[in-house]
Amino acid sequence: MSSPHPTAQQEAALKTGVWKAFDVVCDTAILLILEACWLGSRRFVDFERSTGLQKALISDRLKYLVQEGLLAKRPVGNGKHQEYILEERGLALFPTALLMLAWEQKWNASEGPEVKVFHTGCDHELIPELHCKACGDTVAAKDLAFEGGNAFMLGQKGFVKRRRQAGLNRTNTKIFHEVAEIIGDRWMALILRMALIGISRYDDFLLSTGIATNILADRLARAVDTGLMQRSRYQDNPPRYEYQLSEKARDLLSVVLTLIQWGQDWYEANPGEHAVITHSCGKTLHPVVVCQHCGDPACRDTSRLLMGPY
Ligand SMILES: [Zn+2]
Ligand SMILES: [Zn+2]
Repeated sequence: MSSPHPTAQQEAALKTGVWKAFDVVCDTAILLILEACWLGSRRFVDFERSTGLQKALISDRLKYLVQEGLLAKRPVGNGKHQEYILEERGLALFPTALLMLAWEQKWNASEGPEVKVFHTGCDHELIPELHCKACGDTVAAKDLAFEGGNAFMLGQKGFVKRRRQAGLNRTNTKIFHEVAEIIGDRWMALILRMALIGISRYDDFLLSTGIATNILADRLARAVDTGLMQRSRYQDNPPRYEYQLSEKARDLLSVVLTLIQWGQDWYEANPGEHAVITHSCGKTLHPVVVCQHCGDPACRDTSRLLMGPY
């Protein structure tokens, strides 16, 4: 087991926007509710029908999303009903949702979602691409340098404890299938985030994340089983292993980068606690999701989601 007390560095990490972003979003039930919002759900009964989650769980997560400022609750029909509307902070996650959807369609085409997104700005199918705001180039992992240790660290003590539902599966989801299992699992998302910034050895994962050894071993094994990582032995006596991300996992970089940016944009961090990602153009990376066809930023207002069959 890891140390019962978080280190000073882990404590500092808990105060960063990056930590907050992953704490809020990396939960399958939250992702399913946000998915339902993107697809037009507003009332409790819609969320119930659309997500298949238990009432108590929906109620818990809706309350949390309102408290965190992603959703607003307002009365409709002379106060007889309540509805939940995405606030700006919630709408700002839309580009991340587009990237998650695109990942799902690329890597799970056979069971992939029957949904198309159109960009009303140019009237073409919206294929999202991640660009650097400063230079306009596409963002690739090899072009990035990461600084800001604290913002990338995370102690397990910091996660908000949440009620969970057993038996969540892919039939609960409409558009996010596998990505909801990966990003919706806070430990998996954290390990992936650390791997994307260059951590590969078991001991370094343990040191940098503060995850309990049993959870770390379980998630790394699952990452190998599901084709996200390959394991290799780099030392024989005692045996030590390292984990390399597959192309499928590296493709989640844009999702992780936009989540980091969202956390830094919408949550206060102590001065000096910001994660700094530098692009090869020499400027701090501010990732922007754009439409591949016309190059304009992709947002909810100019995107139309169509559920199949068409
Ligand atoms: Zn750039
Ligand atoms: Zn466009």
